[in-house]
Amino acid sequence: MSSIADNIRSVTRRIQKATKAAGRNDGSVRLLAVSKTRPPEDLREAYGAGQRDFGENYLQEALDKMAALEDLGDVDWHFIGPIQSNKTRPIAENFQWVHSVDRAKVARRLSEQRPDHLPPLNICLQVNVDEEDSKSGCNLRDLPELASTVSELPNLALRGLMAIPDPDQPEADLRTSFQALASALEALRRQPDAEGPLDTLSMGMSGDLELAIAEGSTWVRVGTALFGARAGSRNQPSGG
Ligand SMILES: *Cc1c(COP(=O)(O)O)cnc(C)c1O
Repeated sequence: MSSIADNIRSVTRRIQKATKAAGRNDGSVRLLAVSKTRPPEDLREAYGAGQRDFGENYLQEALDKMAALEDLGDVDWHFIGPIQSNKTRPIAENFQWVHSVDRAKVARRLSEQRPDHLPPLNICLQVNVDEEDSKSGCNLRDLPELASTVSELPNLALRGLMAIPDPDQPEADLRTSFQALASALEALRRQPDAEGPLDTLSMGMSGDLELAIAEGSTWVRVGTALFGARAGSRNQPSGG
């Protein structure tokens, strides 16, 4: 069995190769290690191999791991799971990034609850690019208004967009979904009342990161390829 450190090296090589193949700058795509369901020791091992950004889907589990790994100091925590609006405070207080903001109510609360001594919380708006009823994420037609709302919130930095297209769909459809997210970001950059760095596309996972990088991804969110297969029902990327 390969170690987590080996897996980080091989995923990093996949990222570098795909970045180069796409004619993009080395270092323009970053690796977010998705550590949901993994014990703190696995994150510690990844940290030892140089990994600093970790993505978590479940709030209590994430807070427990932060406490267990407090000694590491320079970790950036990314919340990537569905957000209940009554659970925003610990997210605002403990994370550096939130990739899964899909409604104004959650955004307002995160801004209000972000402590003053911390820098603005980095926000990606989650978009339901496949327009599936069952999924979380804002619809493309509602995105301009949500982006303008988030732009006005003082303690948030609007970094860009995130999507979780169904990884099992045909490659052509997956590509179309990634392209849709990339063009939505382009459109926001031209929108006069959407402000923020707008420099981020959070898309691509273990099985489809090359395709996502070809279409402009800047964060690939990788779990299985780093830590191995997850057990049980929490395997669904869109699950809560
Ligand atoms: C679990 C999860 C991932 C990682 O998926 P893998 O296929 O294990 O790489 C990425 N993004 C989100 C939002 C997830 O929930």
